[in-house]
Amino acid sequence: MNKNKGIVYFVGAGPGDPGLITVKGLDCIKEATVVIYDRLACARLTAFAQPEAELIYVGKSPEHHTLRQDEINLLLVRKAAQGAIVARLKGGDPFVFGRGGEEAEALCQAGIPFEVVPGITSATAAPAYAGIPVTHRNYTSAVAIITGNEDPLKKDSAVAWDKISTGAGTLVFLMGMSNLTKICDRLITNGRHPQTPVALVRWGTRPEQRTLVGTLEDISLKADRAAFKNPAVIIVGEVVLLREKLNWFEKKPLFGKRVLVTRSREQASTFSAAIEALGGEPLEFPTISVAAPENYAPLDDAIKNLRNFSVIIFTSVNGVKSFFKRLRQQGKDIREMGPARICAIGPKTKEALENHGLLVDYVPEEYRAEKIIAGLRDKVGPGTKVLLPRADIARKVLPDALAAMGADVSEITAYRTAMGGGNAPVLKEMLRRKKIDLVTFTSSSTVRNFIKMLDATNLNDLLTSVTVACIGPITAGTARELGLKVDVAADNYTIEGLLEAILKYYGWENK
Ligand code: SAH
Repeated sequence: MNKNKGIVYFVGAGPGDPGLITVKGLDCIKEATVVIYDRLACARLTAFAQPEAELIYVGKSPEHHTLRQDEINLLLVRKAAQGAIVARLKGGDPFVFGRGGEEAEALCQAGIPFEVVPGITSATAAPAYAGIPVTHRNYTSAVAIITGNEDPLKKDSAVAWDKISTGAGTLVFLMGMSNLTKICDRLITNGRHPQTPVALVRWGTRPEQRTLVGTLEDISLKADRAAFKNPAVIIVGEVVLLREKLNWFEKKPLFGKRVLVTRSREQASTFSAAIEALGGEPLEFPTISVAAPENYAPLDDAIKNLRNFSVIIFTSVNGVKSFFKRLRQQGKDIREMGPARICAIGPKTKEALENHGLLVDYVPEEYRAEKIIAGLRDKVGPGTKVLLPRADIARKVLPDALAAMGADVSEITAYRTAMGGGNAPVLKEMLRRKKIDLVTFTSSSTVRNFIKMLDATNLNDLLTSVTVACIGPITAGTARELGLKVDVAADNYTIEGLLEAILKYYGWENK
């Protein structure tokens, strides 16, 4: 591609679930030097842009317009004329409402090249996530997507109400919430049966999705009572009845639950993804971060003498990462490990070691220091030199027990556990407003730092309606010692184990 000449990619961002972007759309975001996005284009997708890419929010919210449409058009033209590769992210499909067509026309007029990457429109995706297929052989073979933005009582309406009301089995209105009553009235006046089923789907495909079902006759009253607002799609037609059977998304075990993830930013993503897969909404509030040790000398010394150790025990993924980072900085690699037996406490630590090309000799069945010792008896005896690279604040149980077996233990600080960067005032406000359903702790230090960061005298008041879940008995013990009530204490010490325990708590066992 000619890099001197700018181009604009109209990219459909999908309806909200970030997984619903297309492969091509994601490639455009990654390639772009400028990303221009609005409110309904999932802001989380901008995280895939290059770090140096310019991100410009031109979000129009119903209350106030940040940039007028002609200003947006001008911005697109200007950026591309300057040579930028512009990803114009638009919610849903760029050419289904949302004025994508007008923006493309402006580019045409200015002689700027553009491409369109279609997206998944909320007109079909929001119904799909509510369990409503917009067509079905037994119900209808026609669907119409209609703007609900226009006052239906307006003379010379651009919507042919007389034809549309009975012209397609399924009608999907976008931008129609403020005209809901008038839309329903107009459809009835033009021959649609008042008992026709209607569904409203708000924030479709997102964890906060809400659905309301009624008929043309009663839906606007129901919507008023439920204070049901934008952004929502209105689905009119018999297909709405299928939701009874096909409602799948809202039945996910953690659907509608906002789950706080307190582990470090680097480690949060796999946990967050698992929460999302169960239908929950993860909220990351890192309470810990991994920092370099204050003094590298002991670790450097151990690295220099690696061949002298018979056993090396890694107790966390962070330990593995920090150790190998330093090894590399020293211009060395795994060949330094020599004949030492490698032990990993837990499957994730084992995986991290394997990713470095090492075979792991021993992983205990249970991941508690106390239980590990038993399995080490055949590898550790009097005088065995054991290296234990780990966090500055790690518990003493393991080195003490090894020493009791007569081992010569070098307990080395490979990394420090520092305070995380979670936004405490924002979290406090969310807790106060009861916006968090579940708080998860994945180590004792996440508990300690959480309490320190929130610095609240009324912490238990803030947590009254919150479920507290801990990864294992030691973390749960720390939480209780520090005065927290613990609702879920997993006994499996892994994220999978924690999620299993949470599901069991919510009554999802064996489902
Ligand atoms: N191009 C977009 C539509 C833009 S118009 C698309 O293809 O989806 C904006 C309207 O889209 C909103 O008023 C609302 O009716 C609908 N909408 C967008 N995202 C939505 C979502 N996640 N859930 C429900 N409706 C949504």
